[in-house]
Amino acid sequence: MGSLRKLAVIVSAAAFASWWQAPLAHSAPAIPRAEQPAACPATGAALQVLGSGGPIAEWAGEAGRAGTSYLLWIDGKPRLLIDAGAGSFLRFAQAGGTVASLDAILLTHLHADHAGDLAGVLNSGGFETRSAPLPIIGPDSADRFPGTTEFLARLLDKEAGAFAYNGGFVDGTEGKFLIAPHDITTAAGEADPAGLDVSNDYSVIAHPVHHGVVPALGFVIEWQGRTAVITGDQSALSQRFLADLTASKPVILFAHHVINGGAGQPRGLHRTPEQIGVLAGALAPARLVLTHNMQRSLSPLAESLAAIAKGYSGPVSVAADLDCFAL
Ligand SMILES: [Zn+2]
Ligand SMILES: [Zn+2]
Repeated sequence: MGSLRKLAVIVSAAAFASWWQAPLAHSAPAIPRAEQPAACPATGAALQVLGSGGPIAEWAGEAGRAGTSYLLWIDGKPRLLIDAGAGSFLRFAQAGGTVASLDAILLTHLHADHAGDLAGVLNSGGFETRSAPLPIIGPDSADRFPGTTEFLARLLDKEAGAFAYNGGFVDGTEGKFLIAPHDITTAAGEADPAGLDVSNDYSVIAHPVHHGVVPALGFVIEWQGRTAVITGDQSALSQRFLADLTASKPVILFAHHVINGGAGQPRGLHRTPEQIGVLAGALAPARLVLTHNMQRSLSPLAESLAAIAKGYSGPVSVAADLDCFAL
């Protein structure tokens, strides 16, 4: 892990913001890149950002960004898939992901940029050898958002499912492994956090968050006393999340950097950069990683980093697809 740290490009939000004050007309802003080893470490725990983008299909510079997805590695094995946003199917393969080795799949919420490739990942897993049931854990329902169990039924039910031909996943027949869906109560971000029993090697707590009318979760993963926090998509009305995790000092806080907070941007769905800074200031992570990046949030990056720096002065990375962060 030590050698990985040496590779890290450590950029203080405040330092970067003051450097960026210099006008650099017509040149693309330098993005403070995350550490990017060729692969996740062979030992220990690491979270890999499979998809660092959002709901808009964008291609910029050398690469595009898949929709949100993370992969937890423990001692070189892919153990937990968190979200499977559109485009992440290919990144899952590129990273060396396998469905057979997963303890569970977790879903922050059921927007397409977080769950659009789930059917494809499961379908691919059907070509692997797996006998144990696969827990799939996500939020409960609300108007126009089926809960996780119903979402999977609508995809896979043998009679009515959109992919009825894959109905074997629902009852563990036809050569498919059984999926075990589970809904977490969210109550617009006010419900109690829920511990998830997916592994003895690490713990996961699902924290309900506020994401407009969308039932949504953030996750805290703890391995050997070290934690990573994933905000999921959340608004600043996620007061319970902030209160429960204040001063938790995670190794990494993955914050979803979706909007710059300017005029005409959706209200009540996401934290603005300033509100990300408030959250990071309260949690006090060793590193803040901005992900769920979009052109509209990155183009004014200097302003975003300055706004974040009002509340948080630690190192900030902007994730690209496949960036890996050791715990
Ligand atoms: Zn999203
Ligand atoms: Zn969303």
